[in-house]
Order: sequence, then structure tokens, then C-alpha cells
Amino acid sequence: MKIIVLPGDGIGPETMAATVEVLQTVNKRFDLALELDHDIAGHESLKKHGSTVTDILLEKVRNADGLMLGPMSTYDFKDESKGEINPSKFFRKSLDLYANIRPAKTYSGLPNKVGAFDLIVVRENTEGFYADRNIESGASEMLITPDVVISLRRITRLCCERIARTAFELAQTRRKKVTIVHKANVLKIADGMFIDICKAVGNDYPGIQIDDFIVDAMMAHVVRAPDKFDVIVTTNMFGDILSDLTSELSGSLGLAGSLNAGTQYAMGQAAHGSAPDIAGRDIANPMSLILSAGMLLGWCGQQKKSSALLQASKAIERASERIVKDGQVTRDVGGNLGTQAVGKAIAKCLQTI
Ligand code: NAD
Repeated sequence: MKIIVLPGDGIGPETMAATVEVLQTVNKRFDLALELDHDIAGHESLKKHGSTVTDILLEKVRNADGLMLGPMSTYDFKDESKGEINPSKFFRKSLDLYANIRPAKTYSGLPNKVGAFDLIVVRENTEGFYADRNIESGASEMLITPDVVISLRRITRLCCERIARTAFELAQTRRKKVTIVHKANVLKIADGMFIDICKAVGNDYPGIQIDDFIVDAMMAHVVRAPDKFDVIVTTNMFGDILSDLTSELSGSLGLAGSLNAGTQYAMGQAAHGSAPDIAGRDIANPMSLILSAGMLLGWCGQQKKSSALLQASKAIERASERIVKDGQVTRDVGGNLGTQAVGKAIAKCLQTI
């Protein structure tokens, strides 16, 4: 079983090193026969290959069982014609990773300002208000005159249907509630269609309760009473913003795992960015990337019907909970351990789980 490992930019290499330690530990502990194949993307690849990602790398990923992508400095990548391609977009679009699954939950051992909660944001990943991925050729942002820009948002029936189904399938395994987040009061046609499709898909899941909130009000609701929510389904940009909020509400942006999944491929990738403000200092929280690796193993376990992979995935989640309870955490969540020390603490805990 092969996983391609791309450390990325900023805090990517250090958080990925901690993640690799955890993956190597579960590999031995659960006899997974994991092969980690290290390669490069982002700034390092731009320097070496003239492009942040390459077609050869994509082929390699297609032939592997999964991908771990470190955070990328996407804001630096302005011009695709110069090889400055957004690696997240590249893999999400090329591998049709339409579902971005971003759980956020509070941990015992960490102070929480908004009460305990456990929810998942299910975000559409391949269209919406993202100019680099919603038209076939070029970008959907146009400079009409030096002072006028138009950005287009694409919403399709297919993408609404499949993201809705992902959300309802997940809700069936949890507390059986799906919340649709939209802006249908203004984007009446596109988000009207999104709601209609989510509700129609919901008809196939009669035991699941459905409600919906307008995205701006949702920010208040989720801060006020996050425990009201179980699975939240939404379009690309709303989900990107909302999931950073829910992650921070759980304690830190460095805490929440994130999986990008399609029908054939999956990619574990932290919800946060490359955090240049703290890069290279061994203070970044590696838990988001480590939990993302756990989610990737869980996805592979479901695909391959492998109980060892499913156990390894659960073990990573439990070990993470345990080290948080013991206060073995980075400073963003009130601790004093470094990035590598947190990786080692999770790895050590995994020996006894
Ligand atoms: P960011 O997510 O990198 O950082 C936001 C804040 O959270 C910063 O204060 C940072 O120090 C903190 N933070 C993030 N991850 C942390 C961690 N693991 N532990 C502790 N603190 C953490 O967002 P940004 O600063 O707006 O963006 C930096 C770069 O990352 C930009 O180039 C942006 O385009 C890119 N980005 C990439 C991704 C991705 O690769 N998926 C996602 C978001 C942003």
C-alpha cells in the first residue's frame, strides 16, 4: 500500500515529519505494509522543475493508494503560465476529489469557550467561487477594465448531488442530522438549486433530520451553540471559511483534520495553510496533518475493506485525544511541546493503544 508524501511549504516539512513518524508507527503496530514515497510540490518543485506540480507527479499519485499533501503557500502562486499552479486545486480537480470532509470537535483537557461539540463540515471541493477550477480553460475571473473585475461562481446539479449524498451518508453513521448552509436569499438560483437538491437527496435518508441556515447567520449560530450541529453541507467557499471557524472554536486551526475524497482517490491535507509566521520554529501544531493522515487511512480501509487500516485510523484519533488530555500539546493550545515532540508523543501512545 503506497502513499505519496509531499511536505509542502512553510510549516509543511515540519508538520509532515511529525506525521510521517506517526504513519511509520501505525505501519509497524498494525502491520499495514505501508510504503511512504516522498516527493516534492510547491516552492521546492517550482525551483527544481519549473512548476509547483508536474504531470509525472500526478501519474505517480494516480498509481498510488493515497496522497498526503502538506500545506502550500498558494498565495505566492499567481501565474499558472509560469508554473505557479495551486497544488490543492491541481489534485482536487485532476483526481476529482469533490468532497472535503472537515471534522471539528472539542477535546477533554482543553479549555473551550463555546461548550463541547462534535461536528463535520462537508464542503464541495471542485467548483463554486474558486476561479481556478470552475471553467474548462482559463480562470473565471476577468479584468473587464483596469477598475472592473468579474468573478464567476459555478454550481452544478452533479456536484450538488454528490456532495449532498456524502453528507447524508456520513450523518447516517453519526447523530443523523444534516444542516444545509447557503445564501439562497441572495443567490436565489444557484443556492436555491443547492438546497432543493440537498433536500431531494435527503428523501433517500428518511431517518435523518434536515435544517438549513443562511451562511452569515450560520457564523453566529455555530459560535452560539455549536453542539446543535452534526453534519453541515455547503458549497466550496462557504465551507472553506466555516471550517476554519469551527476548527478554531475547537481550540486551534492546527487541530482539525481534513480529507479530500472522490470515488477513486483521496488526499489527506491539513485544513490550515503554510503559516509562514511560525514556519521553521518547531512550534506549529502537527495534529491537523496527523489526523488528516488518520482519515486517509480510514478512507483506504473502507475502500479496501481492511480492518487493520480502519483500526490504525481509529488509533490515531484516540492517541491524539489522549495526548491532548495529558497536556502534551503545542503552544497554540496552551502547551509547551514542539511540533516533533507532539508527533513523538502520539507515536509513543500508539504503542499501547
Ligand atoms: P494559515 O492557515 O497558514 O495561518 C492562519 C493562522 O493560523 C496563522 O496565525 C498561523 O500561524 C496559524 N496556524 C495555522 N496552522 C497552524 C498550526 N498547524 N499550528 C499553529 N498555528 C497555526 O493562513 P494564512 O496565513 O492566511 O496563509 C498562509 C499561506 O497558506 C498562504 O499562501 C495561503 O494561500 C496558504 N493556504 C494554503 C492552504 C492549503 O494548502 N490547503 C490553506 C489555507 C491557506
